[in-house]
Amino acid sequence: MKELFELTGKVALVTGGTHGIGMAIARTLASAGAKICINDIDQEKLDNCKKEFQSEGIDVYTLLFDVTNEEAVDKGISQIENEVGDIDILVNNAGIIKRIPILDMPVSDFKQVIDIDLVAPLIMAKRVAPKMIEKKEGKIINICSMMSVYGRNSVSAYAAAKGGLKLLTQNMTCEWAKYNVQVNGIGPGYIATAQTAPIRVGGHPFNDLVMTRTPANRWGEPSDVGNAALFLASKAADFVNGQVLYVDGGILANF
Ligand code: NDP
Repeated sequence: MKELFELTGKVALVTGGTHGIGMAIARTLASAGAKICINDIDQEKLDNCKKEFQSEGIDVYTLLFDVTNEEAVDKGISQIENEVGDIDILVNNAGIIKRIPILDMPVSDFKQVIDIDLVAPLIMAKRVAPKMIEKKEGKIINICSMMSVYGRNSVSAYAAAKGGLKLLTQNMTCEWAKYNVQVNGIGPGYIATAQTAPIRVGGHPFNDLVMTRTPANRWGEPSDVGNAALFLASKAADFVNGQVLYVDGGILANF
């Protein structure tokens, strides 16, 4: 049974993985033996993340590039291929959210969210998938959201992007599953990270909503998402294709 979750020898790239959910995913995949690569747009965060992993005895390969920049992505991934190896597991984790009502949201802000949360996973997958297809083996995990399936006030761009990412996951599956490349998503519920820090304060109406609506009666931990990523990255999920696994403490079941 243990071999099913063994990732020794596999190279995993987690985008935007210097903290929060991405870092937890990287940590969990490393614990299963994967060689971890992490990119980000902030060198200081990359350095701090590398130090934190080193203090835990985990060696990570860090790289500065913006996931929305096709040329930089190509260069970054070539560097990983040359210095670490071909990517076996791609986790499209980098993402942003803008909490602005539709009428107040500049179109440029809307486009920025779509670029990072939806177009970038496409750019990354287009660069990485051809080698997976050639080798007839690979795992792509797109970090979606509960917002992939329902709308809410003031998160229009995010919901549009994450809903699109769910469908992109299904389309990639239709095209690549026959090559033994599994493309799946994870839909985190409300997870305690920097992204949710502004709404995760006692007395904030949204914090109250999360606590009353989440059947598990708590915020999720980044490691909860890491554990789901390990399953989807492992051989145990070899016949799981085009799914979004919601890691949400049951909140979607309660809407
Ligand atoms: P964080 O904001 O803590 O982390 C997001 C990461 O993405 C950061 O490291 C950020 O870098 C990086 N990033 C942003 N833009 C780019 C870019 N253009 N190129 C490369 N990296 C970039 O978010 P979380 O850990 O909370 O979320 C991780 C993922 O999970 C996101 O896709 C998010 O939408 C999703 N999610 C989160 C939920 C939650 O409750 N937290 C719920 C549902 C989904 P930097 O810090 O340098 O800006």
